[in-house]
Amino acid sequence: MSSASYSQNPSGKVAGNLAPVDEMRLTVLVEDKVNPEKPGLIAKHGLSFFIELKSSGQTWNLLLDTGPAADPLLQNARKLRLDLRKASHVVLSHGHYDHTGGLLGFLNFVETKVPIILHPDALKPKFLVKKRGLKKIGLPFREMELEEAGGVLALRRDPFSPLPGVLVSGEIRREVPFEVVKGFRTMEGGTLVKDEMLDDQALFVSLRDKGLVVITGCAHAGVVNTIRQARRLTGAARIHAVVGGFHLFNASTRRIMATVKEFQKIGVEHLMPCHCSGRRAVARFVKVFGERCQRLRTGDSVIF
Ligand SMILES: [Zn+2]
Ligand SMILES: [Zn+2]
Repeated sequence: MSSASYSQNPSGKVAGNLAPVDEMRLTVLVEDKVNPEKPGLIAKHGLSFFIELKSSGQTWNLLLDTGPAADPLLQNARKLRLDLRKASHVVLSHGHYDHTGGLLGFLNFVETKVPIILHPDALKPKFLVKKRGLKKIGLPFREMELEEAGGVLALRRDPFSPLPGVLVSGEIRREVPFEVVKGFRTMEGGTLVKDEMLDDQALFVSLRDKGLVVITGCAHAGVVNTIRQARRLTGAARIHAVVGGFHLFNASTRRIMATVKEFQKIGVEHLMPCHCSGRRAVARFVKVFGERCQRLRTGDSVIF
């Protein structure tokens, strides 16, 4: 298996083309809601996607995020007949527990060494600002625990291609004025400071004859910023789909409308929001995109 290496040139575009894959199957292992047609699965606030890629007769699998705990991840994978041992890599979209809490259970289950790709800030203490104070919402494990369980932490800020056809976004450039990060804190040098969530990253998958699929965790960096990063790095003209948490559940109507406008301007072909996207935002997307917008739930599987 070859894994392409990418370096950024001064224009910010990744040198070399992301070789497209023939097919991708994305399965929602854990999400806030369960698909009523898939009884017996556990829905929990959080996110985990199992991604299978096929190209030239070869198959690769990876896991994007692990949901909030081991139980939903392991039990749902078993019920859906997905073998987690086949995942050659784990990519963590950011450090919040609802995306990382299943990691230790995953490592103990697979019992092999697995590279875990994450931004170094994902390991920082993370808090949510609540009316009555701060709630701890960071990675619930120490680095050593993960390493002892077989995790090989690959801490990177730059874009990185772990498998053919797949690019991890790296730190996402913040350009869009209405996509502001609010309500999070972290520690820096022993002081509590605003958390700009620089650890937030996404996956970009290049599909033959279709264009790019952008897969987000929570899109704390902003879903439009994330798509712009995808285009800047890959040069892809077509955005076939944007899938994942768009973090618009507490967004103003103005921000939701502005996001829709940007999606249209970019020419996003399909939307598959879930997790923290928010009911109001999804309703708006459905109104504008019709059948081209599909809300994903635990157990859903999409073939691209
Ligand atoms: Zn988050
Ligand atoms: Zn989340």
